[in-house]
Amino acid sequence: MGTAPQAELHVIDHPLVQHKLTQMRRKDTSSSAFRQLLTETSLLLAYEVTRELALDQVRIETPLVPMEAPQLVDVPVVVSILRAGNGLLEGVLQVLPDARVGHVGLYRDHDTLEAVEYYCKFPPLAGRTIILVDPMLATGNSATAALDRVKAESPAAIRFLCLLAAPEGIAAVHAAHPDIAIWTAAVDERLNEVGYILPGLGDAGDRIYGTT
Ligand code: URA
Repeated sequence: MGTAPQAELHVIDHPLVQHKLTQMRRKDTSSSAFRQLLTETSLLLAYEVTRELALDQVRIETPLVPMEAPQLVDVPVVVSILRAGNGLLEGVLQVLPDARVGHVGLYRDHDTLEAVEYYCKFPPLAGRTIILVDPMLATGNSATAALDRVKAESPAAIRFLCLLAAPEGIAAVHAAHPDIAIWTAAVDERLNEVGYILPGLGDAGDRIYGTT
C-alpha cells in the first residue's frame, strides 16, 4: 500500500538569518537597506536549501596530483515569482552562478486574492531540480499557481524557498502539492483580512523597490 508524501517544512533558524530578518521587518528600514539585507539573507537561505543536493565523484587534477573530488550532479534551475522573487534571486545566484533562471509573473487580484499570470519564461525544466523563490508565502495562491506551471514541465524535484511564511500559505501549498518541501526563515502568526502576513514585513515588492 502506498503512503502519502510527507509534507516537509524547514525553518532556517540560523542566527544571522534571524538577525537580518528582524532588520527587514522594521518599518523604518529604507528600501536600499532592505534590498541589501534581502540579498545577504538569500545567500544564507540558498546555502541551506542546497544542502542536500546530490554530488558525483569526478576525476580532476590538482596542481600536485590527480584525485576523485565531489561535484554537483545537476546545478538547479532557479525560478523566480515576479516581482518580489527577484529580491531573493540575486543572493541565490551568487551561490549558484551557473544556474539558469526562469520567471513567472503573477499578480494578486485584490478582490479575490487569486493569482493571475501575466508572464512566463522558463529554460528547459524537464528532469531538473528547481528552486522556486518568492519572499512571502501568504495565501499560497501564487506559490500554488507557480508550482502548477513548473510541474507541467516535468522537473525531477522542486524546492520552494521563501523568507516568511504564514501557516495558511503552508497549508494551502501542502494541500495542493504535498510533495513540495518548503524552506523559510520564519513562520509568522497569521494572515490579516486582506492576505498580508502578520506580523510580517509589509509588501515585500514595495519594500524592495520603494513603491509604497
Ligand atoms: N505579499 C507580501 O509582500 N507581503 C505579505 O504580507 C503578503 C503577501
